Amino acid sequence: MQAGGLTNHKENTVHPSTAYSFEFFPPKTAEGMANLRQVRQELAAFSPEFFSVTFGAGGSTRDRTMDSVLEIQAEGHGAAPHISCISSSKADIRELLSAYQAHGIKRLVTLRGDIPSGEVSAGDFKYASELVSFIRAETNDWFHIEVAAYPECHPESGSPARDLQHFKRKIDAGANSAITQYFYNVDAYFRFVESAQALGVTAPIIPGIMPIYNFTQLSRFSNVCGAEIPRWLRLRLEDYGDDLVSLRAFGVDVVTDLCARLIDAGVDKMHFYTLNQAGIISQIIRQLPPHKG
Ligand code: FAD
Repeated sequence: MQAGGLTNHKENTVHPSTAYSFEFFPPKTAEGMANLRQVRQELAAFSPEFFSVTFGAGGSTRDRTMDSVLEIQAEGHGAAPHISCISSSKADIRELLSAYQAHGIKRLVTLRGDIPSGEVSAGDFKYASELVSFIRAETNDWFHIEVAAYPECHPESGSPARDLQHFKRKIDAGANSAITQYFYNVDAYFRFVESAQALGVTAPIIPGIMPIYNFTQLSRFSNVCGAEIPRWLRLRLEDYGDDLVSLRAFGVDVVTDLCARLIDAGVDKMHFYTLNQAGIISQIIRQLPPHKG
């Protein structure tokens, strides 16, 4: 069994121990930072491999991402800043890499970033694969590099086959592992992993898990990132209307079932999109099959 990946989900009958990572966005206020401290305290109960912090398009959260990551690290947790290259120059990225190295940060979630609306400079990088190559050229093996993967295809890719080739390019450029966009079609994840492995990718492809907090928000995310909300799920969620308590209870069941199916298939790492909240995720993880190992 390959850590975080899936070698043969049909034959695996043993639940391995599951490693978790949790993703945050950098808060804008002191209150938000204080809330995030509490969230971290709650999620630390699951001994996460790392907490990651997103990076705003064009470096708009650069300082807040750095501050959050350094606080996480100071608490003794694994800390991974996201870094994106859209609209950035090589000098900008070099400076950021040096700062992270100086602070002893060893893991990066490496992305192109979403193209911001309006007039922005293109920067020195077009795709995340170019950023991965640049980081390797500048810093050798200092960083563990995670990249993004899209089981349901990135919206700009043109076709699943091309998206897979572009994904492989990031691994070939030196990425160590990948985290997927969220999905509710578990077969899309299994198929993606199998197809990537058939192309020779051996790096772990860790499923990204999005808990269900709110239907309007989830629809908005899904429209942007191309992650499908299956019809049966959308209809059920729509039916709850303003009844957030029932919607969330149902969402916990759905996402727990998704995670249990992944664990059953041999997945041993999961990355949760927390939206800076711990409660729902704690409920999900506590209901998952017992860890063995
Ligand atoms: P790429 O891998 O560069 O792919 C972008 C598009 O270009 C894809 O359609 C791909 O198929 C295509 N492509 C790639 N290479 C080529 C090529 N050589 N020729 C032609 N087409 C090509 N966004 C943020 O702004 N900040 C974050 O912190 C952040 N965190 C994220 C974390 C995770 C786990 C995930 C899954 C996404 C995250 N995103 C974040 C969103 C991400 O930035 C967007 O999905 C973005 O649109 C694509 O980024 P990428 O790194 O996958 O880009």
